[in-house]
Amino acid sequence: MSIRLQIRKNEVERYKKGYPLLTKEALARDSRNMVEGELFELYDGNKWMARGYIGYQNKGLGWILSLQEEEKIDKEFFFRKLGEALAKREGRFVSDETNCYRFFNGEGDGIGGMQIDCLDGYYVFHWYSKGIYQYRETILEAFCELMDYRGIYEKRRFKEKGKYLEGNDFVRGERHSDEFFVKENKVRYRVNLDDGAMYGIFLDQREVRRALIERYARGRAVLNTFSYTGAFSVAAKAGGATKTVSVDLANRSRSMTEDNFRLNAIDLSEETIIVEDIYNYFRYAKKKQLLFDMIILDPPSFSRSKKKIFQAEKDYQELIEMAIAVAGKDAILILSTNCSTLKLGKFRQFASQAFKKSGRRYRIVEEFRNPEDFSPMPAYPESNYLKVMIVEVN
Ligand code: SAH
Repeated sequence: MSIRLQIRKNEVERYKKGYPLLTKEALARDSRNMVEGELFELYDGNKWMARGYIGYQNKGLGWILSLQEEEKIDKEFFFRKLGEALAKREGRFVSDETNCYRFFNGEGDGIGGMQIDCLDGYYVFHWYSKGIYQYRETILEAFCELMDYRGIYEKRRFKEKGKYLEGNDFVRGERHSDEFFVKENKVRYRVNLDDGAMYGIFLDQREVRRALIERYARGRAVLNTFSYTGAFSVAAKAGGATKTVSVDLANRSRSMTEDNFRLNAIDLSEETIIVEDIYNYFRYAKKKQLLFDMIILDPPSFSRSKKKIFQAEKDYQELIEMAIAVAGKDAILILSTNCSTLKLGKFRQFASQAFKKSGRRYRIVEEFRNPEDFSPMPAYPESNYLKVMIVEVN
């Protein structure tokens, strides 16, 4: 059984071009009886247009799965989509130096609401709605027929507002050991797939970390803010940074960052790890007139600390201003955001306004967007959420 939905005339073109998200605004009238997981048939008048599933995320009401009327949504369908994702990536992301990448990226690979990461033969499924979770068994069956794997884990991200649902994350196969780590550009990173929503590394920053290693970090004293497990600090050291200061609010960041340094045989004596609200740290650093040769800003889109709510869309400029205040001459700033609603134009404007206020000159040296395994969709620009500017300050 599927539900029939009527599209508004002015939305037809967009969906024909492959826009993947079912939004409330696209529907000619509200449908009261949509059930998560249910398939829908989208009609333009009497003309069939698309098929998809209902799944509530903060982004929309569900995802388009097919623009071909005869295409059924069954195990073969999922098998085909997974196979296409594999074919696109095979031989391109795993090497002697790197063994982790995104295997399947939601709508960019034809199934919105589901992502799969590969970590040295272990796979993590991210489910973003109750709707897609209804297809879990079928998708896992198709996956296991297609792929060899050591173990499978999952993250259910549909508690409310896309929050992670606590629970058993191990699915099948073998569990990884406590000593498990992945390699990326020859650097090792600790990964724990059964310890909450985040597992230790954000794979979308691979090219940025590589740039630090190959081109930017040498000889620099680095301040890494929102440092989490210190991945950028470790990459900077691998690229010849003289010392690093890693700042994160969360207590767990200290031991995780130390662990990542040790895993790469980096002596901890030159490395500082500070558990602190970044706003406090910037205030302290300014008062002490500390200066850095490289400052990395990679905040979450949204965070709440005791004192302040940080929202990238509103507060990123202030963050850049604080970073400029502790930037030495010819310092490099790495400005990064994964906030899909903060557009590149606005992000660049934040930088330009922050520098204008400071009276210092700057130059954008390089920019990064989603790497290829995070398959950005031209028909859905928000899918290309990652924006990173590498900026030189005079
Ligand atoms: N840059 C990291 C990922 C950051 S994840 C990396 O490359 O791996 C976001 C981190 O920001 C979390 O670890 C969280 O604890 C931290 N955080 C959130 N609000 C903060 C604040 N106000 N001050 C310092 N850290 C904060």
